[in-house]
Amino acid sequence: AAKQAGRDNYRLYSTTLSGPTLERVRMENRLRTALANNEFLLVYQPKFSLNAQRMVGVEALIRWSQDGRLIPPCDFVPLLEDTGLIRQVGRWVASTALMQLKAWQALWPGLTMAINVSAVQLDEADLADFFAGELNRYGLAGALLEVELTEGALLRDPEQALAFVNGMRSKGIRLAVDDFGTGYSSLSHLKDFAPEVLKLDKSFVQPMASDTRSAKLVEGVIALAQGLAIEVVAEGVEDEKALALLAKMRCDTVQGFYLSEPVLASALSSTQGAARLSAVSGGA
Ligand code: C2E
Ligand code: MG
Ligand code: MG
Ligand code: MG
Repeated sequence: AAKQAGRDNYRLYSTTLSGPTLERVRMENRLRTALANNEFLLVYQPKFSLNAQRMVGVEALIRWSQDGRLIPPCDFVPLLEDTGLIRQVGRWVASTALMQLKAWQALWPGLTMAINVSAVQLDEADLADFFAGELNRYGLAGALLEVELTEGALLRDPEQALAFVNGMRSKGIRLAVDDFGTGYSSLSHLKDFAPEVLKLDKSFVQPMASDTRSAKLVEGVIALAQGLAIEVVAEGVEDEKALALLAKMRCDTVQGFYLSEPVLASALSSTQGAARLSAVSGGA
């Protein structure tokens, strides 16, 4: 009986193990062909200047199109990172976004493009050169490109990250620290990496309207950044009250569902975000 139970236990164990593993292998194979089959696409979420009351940039966000459904990055970017495929996909993101940015310059001169770069990509010694090459290809100034890295990505291998950031900067490309406040937000990183932009994480911005402590933290970060001439982008602006508070705090740039969700390139011109800005007294 003990033997029997042992076998059953083993069977149970092996089933629970092989389930996810098989699914993972299947998913990995699908991801391997997704790039060649054009199954990835980019959506773009606008960012607005509170002072100028207009759209000043967009952030490119990847989606995986599967049978007419758009799969969000949280469901496949980690696997792209684990398999290293993110290196190839990351270059596709940069090329695609910059080609789109070139087309948009005619409609919105000076519009900037932000792309998310994964920690895994930083081990590519020629990544900054690749970005510069793509900018060149489209005749775009380096300052029109903003690379978003999380604090975690900067700290995984700080020496490597700093080499990349210095390479970027020599081409005029700007560094944004993404999800600021959720990682190891140490002042020494602001000193060492000297980012041009801080993106305040939505976990502070979202609850601003109802939670005084979140609002105070946001206010503090804005004051800190102002002293260092760092631009602050508040992400996750979901209601008018948060927007009004951010305007009062003289936050530079706002992004969030209240202004616009991420949209397909063809829908960017119909975004209503700017109209919502004029409702708050953010202008000078
Ligand atoms: P992120 O870079 O911090 O992007 C912001 C995420 O917040 C996006 O989710 C966006 O759709 C969402 N968001 C925007 N406004 C609001 C709001 O008002 N409320 C709420 N609740 N959410 C809002 P998304 O597109 O699902 O992307 C999730 C994450 O996936 C990104 O976080 C980024 O870390 C990663 N990601 C997306 N595209 C890429 C890519 O091309 N390459 C890499 N390496 N990572 C990417
Ligand atoms: Mg981002
Ligand atoms: Mg973020
Ligand atoms: Mg994030």
